Amino acid sequence: MFNNKILKVMPYILGVLILILVAVMIITKFGDSKPGQETEMKTDKVVSDLVGEDEAQKDTVNDPSEGTAASPVQDDDGAGLGLIPDKGTPETDPDGTDKPMGDTASTEGSEPETVTEPAPTATPTPVPEELVFEDKDDYIETKNDVNLRVGPSTDTDIVTNLKTGKRLKRTGYNEKWTRIIYEEKECYIYTPLVTGVFEEPTEDGNATGGKSSGTATLSTGVGTSNGHIVCIDPGHQTNGNNDKEPLGPGSSEMKAKVSSGTSGNTTGHPEYKLNLTVSLKLRDELIARGYTVVMTREINDVNLSNAERAKIAADAGAQAFIRIHANSSTDTSVNGVETICMTSDNKYNADLYTSSRKLSDAVLNNVVSNTGAKKRYVWETDTMTGINWAEGPVTILEMGYMSNKDEEEKLLDDDYQNKIVIGIANGIDEFFK
Ligand SMILES: [Zn+2]
Repeated sequence: MFNNKILKVMPYILGVLILILVAVMIITKFGDSKPGQETEMKTDKVVSDLVGEDEAQKDTVNDPSEGTAASPVQDDDGAGLGLIPDKGTPETDPDGTDKPMGDTASTEGSEPETVTEPAPTATPTPVPEELVFEDKDDYIETKNDVNLRVGPSTDTDIVTNLKTGKRLKRTGYNEKWTRIIYEEKECYIYTPLVTGVFEEPTEDGNATGGKSSGTATLSTGVGTSNGHIVCIDPGHQTNGNNDKEPLGPGSSEMKAKVSSGTSGNTTGHPEYKLNLTVSLKLRDELIARGYTVVMTREINDVNLSNAERAKIAADAGAQAFIRIHANSSTDTSVNGVETICMTSDNKYNADLYTSSRKLSDAVLNNVVSNTGAKKRYVWETDTMTGINWAEGPVTILEMGYMSNKDEEEKLLDDDYQNKIVIGIANGIDEFFK
């Protein structure tokens, strides 16, 4: 009897037990919900990181359909493709006083995210606004450190990076992109990186430089000027010129206009190329420090005598005339840095001796301390046409010996060149202090 009763009640007891179990399970699940969410968030983060990498990789293959949500940064500084935050201010900056770093990568985050799926209508797809250009026939100037691209998109290849602002011919414009001509090629620059529009191709309306001034160009930075003008003369040129010119103003003594310079003993690398490489780096460094810089040449194939180079510096009112050279000796063990200026008895410009000697000492000491190279000396001589014709403080820097295997190797090394450049710039700073 008793057993029968239990058997009859059993299903109800079981039912109640199951209900309790279910209730306990539900409560337990709610109690766990927090850690559960965290786990999900972590998973999301991993997924988004992976997406980021994929986006960056896609960018390198220039997938034109690619959105720009991820903001891969160009590998300009060797930092690799990373999702580094944008350096620049977005174009939507309302007061227009933004000072983006200039690299067009800074614009990528502000690309229209409205490039969403086109509405499935029968109307033809309109041309994207960045591809509609208003025709122009004038000139623009750019900020420093801007990319010129093959197409109106940061997804397209970079033609070149302009380290310093340049005046360029403009053929087309829209709010996003400006079409320009660079070295006879059509390129595009992000419009917010344009600093001004001009009627003339150069500042004075003439072709840059006269016949005697070759490729002389004046460069100023966008930053605050420190009020000093420096002329940089990259020594020599592709072909020397053996025609003669007076050794100094009024001199009957004649000297070859310009020689072709030396070359590396091991590599054969010509001095005139090395001189220009370092000079262009120096130009950029000085501009960054607020100097106005005049270059006697910015290409190798010019025809500029040493007296003409001194005239460029004088005409520009240069307060320091820095002539960049490399040395050579038949004794391949000789190495080290030296600078050159006139003697205190110079027939043409002895009044510049004190300041030129000061400049020569400052540049020599700072190049030596910044490179660790051997310090030779300041050579005082009146045999240099480009010094004798100078009308302001002048020095020739002999950066090192291309006839010495170790020094030649260093001189052709990018990092070592940068050390020389910082040394020269520090020397110039010291000179003006
Ligand atoms: Zn030289």
